[in-house]
Amino acid sequence: MNDADSRHLSSQLEALGYTHRTSADEADLVVLNTCVVRQQAEDKAINHLHRLRVTKTERPEMTIALMGCMVGMKEAPTLKKRFPFVDVFMPPSDTEPLLDYLSDHGLFDTDRSFDTREKALRDAIQDEEFALPSGLRGQSVTANVPVVLGCSHACTFCIIPYRRGAERSKPPADILREIETLVGQGVKEVMLLGQIVDRYGTDFDDGTDLAGLLQRVAAVPELARVRFLTSHPNWMTDRLLDVVANTEKLCPHIEIPIQAGNDDVLERMRRGYTVDQYRRVMDRIRARMPDAAINTDIIVGFCGETQEQFMDTYRLAEEMQWDKIHLAKYSVRPKTIAARSMPDDVDPDEKERRRKMLDDRQTEILEAKNAVLQGQVVEVLVENNHKGKWRGRTPHNRLVFFEDERDLTGQLVPVHIERTAAYTLNGHAADRRPHAHAGAV
Ligand code: SAH
Repeated sequence: MNDADSRHLSSQLEALGYTHRTSADEADLVVLNTCVVRQQAEDKAINHLHRLRVTKTERPEMTIALMGCMVGMKEAPTLKKRFPFVDVFMPPSDTEPLLDYLSDHGLFDTDRSFDTREKALRDAIQDEEFALPSGLRGQSVTANVPVVLGCSHACTFCIIPYRRGAERSKPPADILREIETLVGQGVKEVMLLGQIVDRYGTDFDDGTDLAGLLQRVAAVPELARVRFLTSHPNWMTDRLLDVVANTEKLCPHIEIPIQAGNDDVLERMRRGYTVDQYRRVMDRIRARMPDAAINTDIIVGFCGETQEQFMDTYRLAEEMQWDKIHLAKYSVRPKTIAARSMPDDVDPDEKERRRKMLDDRQTEILEAKNAVLQGQVVEVLVENNHKGKWRGRTPHNRLVFFEDERDLTGQLVPVHIERTAAYTLNGHAADRRPHAHAGAV
């Protein structure tokens, strides 16, 4: 989400004449886009802010803007007191406060009077919001496209609904316009984003849904692949799964967080499903796409999680054979239901022990899964060159490195896999096309 928000803002700023600088030390304007989903992310943002305070002391004329979940929908007044050197505060996905500030202060076009400045600003950014910043044109092979903003679910551990506001879907026409623009600039793969992306369109009341949107996106010429994230088990319809299974460009890759493998913990998290209900969703996915890559999110050490409850989650990893677990230790977030009413009673060392135990197990599972791919040919969409090797992903989102003399950026290349590890595959470009779903495990 932040990656997409930063891209939208960069393009708008370029339309106003700003150019990109790699270092904050030489920039007139610095925007810090923040995440606060865990304390660690927030600490990182605060460290950056302290560094920017020093830069601003040396160059008081520079503009500093703080964006994203640290600001949220209502934290700006508190933050202004704490970080008085910050000039502008911007909620997630909202570039207006900065554009207004630049306009008010004549910071994008000093030749004009205020009124024409305002109009020039609106005209300039009108068609640019969806474009890639110039440095990324022809370079970015993949792009994130938000389709549902905010979240209204209120899981007890989660700060996102408080910071990103109520759930709202973007109109299909805007999404398609954005994707067509991106594709025109070289993008080959898009990832449609939402906190509960499978709820897309439920706020429109006209039958618009994610399945229909995916079909329209898949029809965009020159676009090679489409993914979406994150799905909530309760909204994963058969219609959606059928469309994914039957539409070539839709990758067989589902992100569906379980968060915990024990019903009492799930209840305290207010996730709205039981382990058994989740299991049935997995069955429905695999009935249609036996080889689909199914990824999940898990939080260990949530309030009141006992050793036995954690072991339920651990054993479930064995049973589910997820293709990737995004693993996190529970982190108390201000104003959430858990922060207000549940003690954070799992010791930090114990949280780390659980995280590591599950992580080690998942590494073994992935090593075994990937080992099957050795000797097979997989289709790789090449993203970039990394230390002399081409780097890309399979339809199942597995990371592949391979060597080849040609410039293959943005190409679909069949790659013969020679070596495998838990998180990477290595090989060389094969001269034959992969079989449909080759190497899909
Ligand atoms: N909306 C999605 C994911 C959003 S946030 C969903 O909940 O299904 C990404 C991940 O961060 C979550 O899935 C969760 O695993 C993790 N997360 C959120 N709040 C957290 C917290 N307080 N402590 C640790 N991890 C957290």
